[in-house]
Parts: sequence; structure tokens; C-alpha cells
Amino acid sequence: MKIAILSRDGGLYSTRRLRDAARQRGHEVRVVDYLRCYMDITSHRPRVLYQGEDLVGMDAVIPRIGASQTFYGTAVVRQFEMMGVFPCNESQAISRSRDKLRCLQLLSRAGIGLPVTGFSNSAKDIGGLIDLVGGAPLVVKLLEGTQGVGVVLAENRKAAEAVIEAFRGLNANILVQEYIKEAGGADLRCFVVGGRVVASMKRQGAEGEFRSNLHRGGRAEKVKLTPEERSTAVRSAKEMGLNVAGVDLLRSNHGPVVMEVNSSPGLEGIEGATNVDVAGKIIEYLEKAVPTGNAKDKSK
Ligand code: ADP
Ligand code: GLU
Repeated sequence: MKIAILSRDGGLYSTRRLRDAARQRGHEVRVVDYLRCYMDITSHRPRVLYQGEDLVGMDAVIPRIGASQTFYGTAVVRQFEMMGVFPCNESQAISRSRDKLRCLQLLSRAGIGLPVTGFSNSAKDIGGLIDLVGGAPLVVKLLEGTQGVGVVLAENRKAAEAVIEAFRGLNANILVQEYIKEAGGADLRCFVVGGRVVASMKRQGAEGEFRSNLHRGGRAEKVKLTPEERSTAVRSAKEMGLNVAGVDLLRSNHGPVVMEVNSSPGLEGIEGATNVDVAGKIIEYLEKAVPTGNAKDKSK
């Protein structure tokens, strides 16, 4: 196959691993900086141009779109879709997963376990919002936050009111969530590829830290999932329409609850913790999913 990895930086661990795994399995692969792609969207012959070259004859693209580049990144993926190129994750699924609130609403509709979560846009009824999630302690989250930034634990009602008021003053959209204390500052990252969990790790927050993000000093180790956790992860990815997804779960008293579903999950942490060749699993998935024998280049 001819594969393009849409990534801003060929030196990133995940990008390197995907490129090497594709090469190892005998594919032609290149890293394409999607921000430097431009597109011909008007003609009957949709095209993507890159450094003056027409990117034709691709069989598949692997999007690795940064959170801050979702708009342009998904436009490039969509353009490849119009050319008949198979996207590892579809543009629409990537956009969908980038909206935390929409994500939670879709998962909730599918009956997937979530922490009790409230959302509001006005500072008027802070008390009502706090009661909705069962009172303090509770977690307040900036809707646009990543890597644990803007995730605050409010230990009591006064603190919760103050935090919510402060975020409101900044005109930020926030989620208010039941605090899953029993998770003990740990979460589970389940790496789903093609409807199966191929690797899973437990991330434990640093001492005295309830957030388990590796960027915040958390540690990761391999973990064995229960059948319920496994199926929750697989169903969450499916509900989001993602073939490749990092599903984050907490172990709560009422079963596994989903924190978020990531459409460009990092490979470094998970491969390091589990020794699974996750990059190889992604390429293997493409080999099965991409219709063979035709590069589906509509320009010809
Ligand atoms: P981000 O997307 O910025 O990583 P998350 O919503 O995943 O934000 O929260 C970061 C971490 O904080 C989670 O991985 C988890 O360890 C902890 N956390 C978040 N929400 C809760 C909650 N409701 N109860 C307990 N811990 C939580
Ligand atoms: N940025 C990564 C993610 O959220 C961190 C976890 C990892 O290294 O796998 O996917």
C-alpha cells in the first residue's frame, strides 16, 4: 500500500513508529505535514498538493491531527476522503471526538458508563449544578482543556462555588462532574484498534495528585482489563466512529466510567508500558480494512 501519515513532525515518537512499522511490513509510506498541504476543492478532480506535488495514488492516510489544528487537519483528511483514500480515522469522527461535551452526550445515549456530569452556560444556578452531581467533593473541568490542565478537584461546597464562579468569570465553558474518589488517582488507557483492545495500561498520578496524566508526572504500567472494561472501551470507540482510539476509563464503584475518547492517542506511553507493537497493529488493521489492488485515484 501507499500510506501517508498526516503529522506535523516526523520526529515524534508516534509518527516514527508508524512509519517504521509500515516500512517493515513492506508498504510505501511518507510523512506529510498537513498544515503545508493545500487543496483543490473546486474541480471535478479533487486534489491535495504538498510542496508543489500532487499527492496522488495514496491507498490510506493515518491522521495524527493535533488538538489545536483540528479545523485545518480534518479538512485535509476530508479532502483525501473525497479522493477515495481510506482514512484510518474519518474526519467526522475526529471532529466529533474533539468536542468533549458532544462525546459524553453520545456515549450517554449509548448507555455507556460515565461519571454523573453537569454542564451549564450561566452562573445563575451554581447551587443547582452542584446538587445535580451529588454535591462536593466534585471535579470542575474546562471544556477546552487537555493534559489535565483546567481539571480541578473541589473538596467542599464553598470551594466548588468559588471555582465555578472563577471559571464563569473567564467566560469558559465548564463541566461539573462527580468525583470518582475510589479510582485513587489512577485511570486506564485502553488502546482500541479495529474494534479490539490491543493494549492497555494503568496510569497512576504522582503522590497527592488526583490527575493521572503522564504529562503531570503520572506513571504507567501494563494492566489486565475486566471483560466489562474491555467492552466499554470497544463500544466507546465504535460510538465515536473511531477505528483507532485511546479510551480513558476510571474504575468506579458503579463500574467503568469513560473520561474521554482520544482520536490521535500517543504510542510512546502505551508501547513503553506494555511492550505491545501498537504501531504494527494499526498498520495490520489498515491491511485488512483498505480495499486492495486499487489505489482509487479518481484523477485517472
Ligand atoms: P484531560 O483531557 O485534560 O486529560 P481529564 O478529564 O481526562 O482531562 O482529567 C485528567 C485526569 O484527572 C484523569 O485522567 C483522571 O485521572 C482525573 N479525573 C478527571 N475527572 C475525574 C473525576 N470525575 N473523578 C476522579 N478523577 C478524575
Ligand atoms: N498525549 C498522550 C495521549 O493522551 C499521552 C498518553 C500516552 O503517552 O500514550 O494520548
